[in-house]
Amino acid sequence: MHIAVLTIFPAMFDLFWEHGIVRRAVAGGLVQPQAVDIRAFTRDRHQVTDDRPYGGGCGMVMKPEPLARAIESVRDQFNDGGFTVLMTPRGDQLSQQTAAGLARQQGLIFICGRYEGVDARIVHRHVDYELSIGDYVLSGGELAAMVAMDAVIRLIPGVLGGAQSAQRDSFSDGLLEHEHYTRPRVFEGDAVPEILLSGDHQAIERWRRKMSLIETLMRRPDLLENRALDERETEILRQWSQMLERVLKHQAAHRPDSLPGRQ
Ligand code: SAM
Repeated sequence: MHIAVLTIFPAMFDLFWEHGIVRRAVAGGLVQPQAVDIRAFTRDRHQVTDDRPYGGGCGMVMKPEPLARAIESVRDQFNDGGFTVLMTPRGDQLSQQTAAGLARQQGLIFICGRYEGVDARIVHRHVDYELSIGDYVLSGGELAAMVAMDAVIRLIPGVLGGAQSAQRDSFSDGLLEHEHYTRPRVFEGDAVPEILLSGDHQAIERWRRKMSLIETLMRRPDLLENRALDERETEILRQWSQMLERVLKHQAAHRPDSLPGRQ
């Protein structure tokens, strides 16, 4: 997959391409990355990429012409044009599903904003999708684009080996992942669950599925609302909700103010 990132700070990406799974994807030819300097598409002596906002107000806005030229230039190099994603806090929030959708594209072009953001006409005329990485504001789109690219690249077929299959990751089947343990067997008095030492792979798999479900129930019950549960999962959740109900009843009955003689 061709991935181009349009930025006024291309050097920020040098380290990104050179480490871990991203590096492996690049070295294996599965990703052809490119950090494109927007300044190279300016036509003035000072290579200006921003200007004051119409209507006044503080901050600067990224000028449309250099950005449009940069996008066109990259699209010309990509055979299929490239799906163009603007990083912006106003966009759809990144999720595992969004990342999987982007991983199916032939080519991706990420635009990193700076200052107050980019001129709206770039969004109207050149952007296919607006993407946010969360409800907070960064100083620029570079880190946001790295987050999105990392999530996308690991989902490109062939990037992860079997041992690191993305299918087991949190969110891929609507659940959080179970806990992991490695040696030593006992750490600071805390022992690895016995089942993981049993060698019974089916029982281990059942335990992992159960822990996944319980983690999700305890931490992110919202994820379970729209997920189809099979019979076994329904039974596990039923047992857990009964247990939770008993604990809550017990706690309510033993609250200090519910004991006789106490206020
Ligand atoms: N004035 C903008 C606003 O209030 O929505 C924020 C601009 S921000 C200082 C500069 C650039 O950082 C944005 O154009 C965008 O590219 C990037 N950025 C900041 N926060 C982001 C987020 N949560 N997700 C994606 N990109 C973000």
